[in-house]
Amino acid sequence: MRTVDESVQAAAEALRGAQRVVAATGAGMSRESGIPTFREAQTGLWAQFDPEALATEHAFRQDPARVFSWYAWRRKLVADAKPHAGYTALVTLESLVSQMTVITQNVDGLHRRAGATDVIELHGALDRFICVDCRHPFLSDCVPMGDGTASLEPPPCEQCGAAIRPAVVWFGEALPEAAQTAAWHVAASCDVMMVIGTSSLVYPAAYLPRIAGDAGATIIEINPEATDLTPAVDIACLGAAGTILPQIIEAAEA
Ligand code: NAD
Ligand code: ZN
Repeated sequence: MRTVDESVQAAAEALRGAQRVVAATGAGMSRESGIPTFREAQTGLWAQFDPEALATEHAFRQDPARVFSWYAWRRKLVADAKPHAGYTALVTLESLVSQMTVITQNVDGLHRRAGATDVIELHGALDRFICVDCRHPFLSDCVPMGDGTASLEPPPCEQCGAAIRPAVVWFGEALPEAAQTAAWHVAASCDVMMVIGTSSLVYPAAYLPRIAGDAGATIIEINPEATDLTPAVDIACLGAAGTILPQIIEAAEA
């Protein structure tokens, strides 16, 4: 088994020889920016709620204000967070390869805020909204979100009067078709895929490294813990994204 440093060097070597690179990121990518993953206990106002019971359309229709207020709180967490050095490292990588795409399961928009230019948001984004019935889209400036502490009723859709909900993929929902098609395409045609901060348990996103691996890509995993995917990857870097990514990109630049 390689040491962490040997894995970092092997990852840098793979990137040096690559043209098309994909970074497939999950909630662990945002951990060091202070955004909790789903599987960690919730804190503060929402400590007693199970995220899996809030992130469904059923929960929203049963108690729209509760779910809308939870999203207002999460949006405030994200607004106060800053992308860490791992995000910046992925942006630097754009200048080292001919195509660099981020495919993220995260809804926090931190890749965009860090300056990444090609980002596929597989699970939607907290700063976009749609009508729960007619699916009319709304941008965040039409949707008041408060400071994350008060209870908030979702505003009504101006087309049909139903409630406005966050444009994120809830449990049991399909991925946005355009995002899925684009993600599957780049996964099947990349030379290297870095799988960062995901437990690789949530499907269909967890198919991405399998698609890339089957097409011959080198798979690099960056995660402080081994996952179900680890036995199938080429290079496992056991460590935190905010530390390991800058090391890999710096070594690839050298
Ligand atoms: P997950 O919670 O299932 O897994 C997180 C993974 O990150 C774990 O394997 C963990 O070991 C790893 N991790 C923890 N700290 C890390 C670090 N510093 N660096 C690298 N890895 C680290 O997350 P998931 O696989 O993304 O699935 C959860 C679902 O919840 C996704 O569908 C996502 O849309 C949603 N979600 C999104 C956010 C967000 O937008 N930031 C936050 C919570 C949940
Ligand atoms: Zn509507």
